[in-house]
Amino acid sequence: MSDFPVVSRGRLDTVQVNLGYRCNQACRHCHVNAGPHRKEMMDLETVDQVLDLLQRSGVPTLDLTGGAPEMNPHFRYLVESARKVGLRVIDRCNLSILEEPGYENLAGFLATQRVEIIASLPCYLEDNVDRQRGRGVFQASIRALKTLNTLGYGQADSGLTLSLVFNPQGPTLPPPQAELEAAYHRELQVRYGIVFSRLYALTNMPIQRFGSTLVSKGQFDAYMCLLKRAHRDENLEGVMCRRLISVDWQGYVHDCDFNQMLGLPLGSQRRHVAEIDAAALEGAAIMTADHCYGCTAGCGSSCGGALNPS
Ligand code: SF4
Ligand code: SF4
Repeated sequence: MSDFPVVSRGRLDTVQVNLGYRCNQACRHCHVNAGPHRKEMMDLETVDQVLDLLQRSGVPTLDLTGGAPEMNPHFRYLVESARKVGLRVIDRCNLSILEEPGYENLAGFLATQRVEIIASLPCYLEDNVDRQRGRGVFQASIRALKTLNTLGYGQADSGLTLSLVFNPQGPTLPPPQAELEAAYHRELQVRYGIVFSRLYALTNMPIQRFGSTLVSKGQFDAYMCLLKRAHRDENLEGVMCRRLISVDWQGYVHDCDFNQMLGLPLGSQRRHVAEIDAAALEGAAIMTADHCYGCTAGCGSSCGGALNPS
């Protein structure tokens, strides 16, 4: 039983969809346990049910995640259908996918569709990134960022947003987002000539692969204590579950991506995307547990970065 405070839903503004657990990488901090050998992928019928929910609810933002969401065979259909009806579409892209065989024109597709890109780059130093995400990932990411810059991503006035995501290497809280963002802008520009729109500093969640690593190193309890000690009530207002739902690859709905990974259903009731009434969710209780302290510790953490960055 967790002592995390009660949180209830506000107005829904984002449907986050996990298109499947297959990924070309297998990062140490991954809270999805994604990897090249995972088979779970959202099918076309469920993709259409997601589109139907978006149309009947008027929710303005579709946020695509995975695994590597682009590896789902229906990814482009979903993006095109959503953009056609004017939705804002976010692709949580691991960058290295842009270099995989068969994905050579993916960057161009994303730019043409004016998809917003949020990409993980846990450091601007090669060793740190390769240690966390795998050998060669840093250089692949740098090449991908240059390609995206060439297409206009991250360039002032292009309207093509390229956000980067930082998360700590180990069981610590992220540093203040604004200072880190300034360092990223400076270092990526000077070292590689790369520009980007903004940086999100996220806290590692004590679940799945990162949670197991903590357990195996005997650091789990200390990390949970750190998160609980750093809890700030003012972060509760901004936790992402207040305004988004997370749909899993089979179409079942959860309060957030982390709850999805823990198998915790939306408001503790197992419901499918086909039966969701977005307006009726407002005011509903959110299913919380101890991992939620990862969202409210320190400056707070959400899929859109720190909640109270200063
Ligand atoms: S963290 Fe992202 S890129 Fe890494 S294995 Fe997980 S889904 Fe793939
Ligand atoms: S882990 Fe999920 S349910 Fe818990 S506070 Fe964070 S966003 Fe909300």
